[in-house]
Amino acid sequence: MATFDVIIVGSGTAGSLTAKTIAKAGFNVCMIDQKPRINIGDKVCGDAIGQHHFEDLSGILGPPKGEELENTITAIELISPDKETVFTVPGDGFIINRHLFGQRLVNEAIDAGVTLIDEALVLEPITDNGWGVHIKNLKENTKQKLIASIIIDASGFHAVIRNKIKMFYDDKIQPTEVEVCYREIRDLNSGLENTQHCKIYLTSSFAPGGYYWIFPEGDSRVNSGLGVQMIPDHKNPKTLFQTHVLNDPLFENSTLIKGGGGVVPTRRPIYSLVDDGLVLVGDSACQVNPIHGGGIGPSMQAGVIAGKTVISALEKEDTSKKSLWNYNLEYMKGYGAKQAGLDLFRILLQLMDDQDLNYGMSHKIMTEEDILNASLGKEFKLRITDKIKRVFRGIRKLSLLNKLRKVAKEMKTIKSMYRNFPKSPDKLDNWISHITNIYQNVYQICGID
Ligand SMILES: Cc1cc2nc3c(=O)[nH]c(=O)nc-3n(C[C@H](O)[C@H](O)[C@H](O)COP(=O)(O)OP(=O)(O)OC[C@H]3O[C@@H](n4cnc5c(N)ncnc54)[C@H](O)[C@@H]3O)c2cc1C
Repeated sequence: MATFDVIIVGSGTAGSLTAKTIAKAGFNVCMIDQKPRINIGDKVCGDAIGQHHFEDLSGILGPPKGEELENTITAIELISPDKETVFTVPGDGFIINRHLFGQRLVNEAIDAGVTLIDEALVLEPITDNGWGVHIKNLKENTKQKLIASIIIDASGFHAVIRNKIKMFYDDKIQPTEVEVCYREIRDLNSGLENTQHCKIYLTSSFAPGGYYWIFPEGDSRVNSGLGVQMIPDHKNPKTLFQTHVLNDPLFENSTLIKGGGGVVPTRRPIYSLVDDGLVLVGDSACQVNPIHGGGIGPSMQAGVIAGKTVISALEKEDTSKKSLWNYNLEYMKGYGAKQAGLDLFRILLQLMDDQDLNYGMSHKIMTEEDILNASLGKEFKLRITDKIKRVFRGIRKLSLLNKLRKVAKEMKTIKSMYRNFPKSPDKLDNWISHITNIYQNVYQICGID
């Protein structure tokens, strides 16, 4: 029975950065992935990441270059359902070759001393007679037990460890907090008009509770996909994509390179990212931007914070949740607060129909600047002037304005709650009940039962 200081389940962006951080401090880290090493990093994704994430990771991870870099981006275009209004939100970023990027991350982890066990499925945690995992070696079809002081669940949305143990608090991911997506990489027959802009199309008719995107991978290759909210009987994103996105003249005579589906949690982070001997990072911790679904950057940043906290816990020889709590404090006051605010906005946004979205965008209730501020986690103000109120004639539109205003207030409150995350585990229950109240207020404002 092999024993390690730390076992990390999953070698995606979250697992690899966490593993590298801890191994660099000299600890014995084992990272397990079901994929063969050569396929690690290959994932259905929009492949877009903001440059600011690499600025935040300066000295830890360099930006993509060479074959890893498919394209550079200077702005995101947000397009209204009637396509009459386009918000161009400036922001530098990259379209990456996800596979090569993932390979770099895993190689850097191995270079730092991490033991990678690839082609091994983690089946479940061991909770009696030690703390560890049962794995199935897919190459040899054998089972094995691995023991560690700390387990890190970086297994993505399906969270193989978190879902198989009882955490010390309740937080169940609701289907409404998940997006189901279908994505294709396509070569176009003609060149793109603008190769530096990512395009996001809002449409509640064709992408209910989500959006579709067209991201330029180069002069004539795009990464395009569609996501819908995972409500009961939701529509199939692949069918919607093929019916409503591929009919764009842009795709005429285009060639499919590859296609596939994926899921992404679009909500606030899990209430506590740690338990005794356990750390959650990346999609397993719900560390994705609830509005646009970007999770590569936050998963890597969280990996570094988690890694530093784990190092300190191992040095103290105390792996209790109390000893690991600092990861919660650091994450929640930064990206966690931003996620929580945007999560409330998501709830309202998902209720808006195409008419609401067209109105809201054409009359600039929110401007490009507001969206930029919101995406950076800053406060934004709604411009609900008398003129806008006149334009928003009719009960329904005025009530939408009121909802917007009220939700914006709750967003401010919840961000402040996350910035003042409880200093110790025993205060978490009380904090959760305040957060639950805020959600209930927002559901009430939005008329959701
Ligand atoms: C369609 C789609 C589009 C997206 N577009 C973007 C985008 O443009 N930009 C962006 O920033 N984010 C995007 N995201 C989100 C982003 O991909 C994730 O947030 C990010 O990859 C999270 O990384 P992770 O390491 O937590 O999980 P993952 O990348 O999912 O890695 C988890 C790893 O765990 C392994 N694993 C899982 N279960 C087991 C098990 N039982 N045993 C062993 N190994 C296991 C998997 O093989 C995998 O390698 C998108 C997601 C989807 C689905």
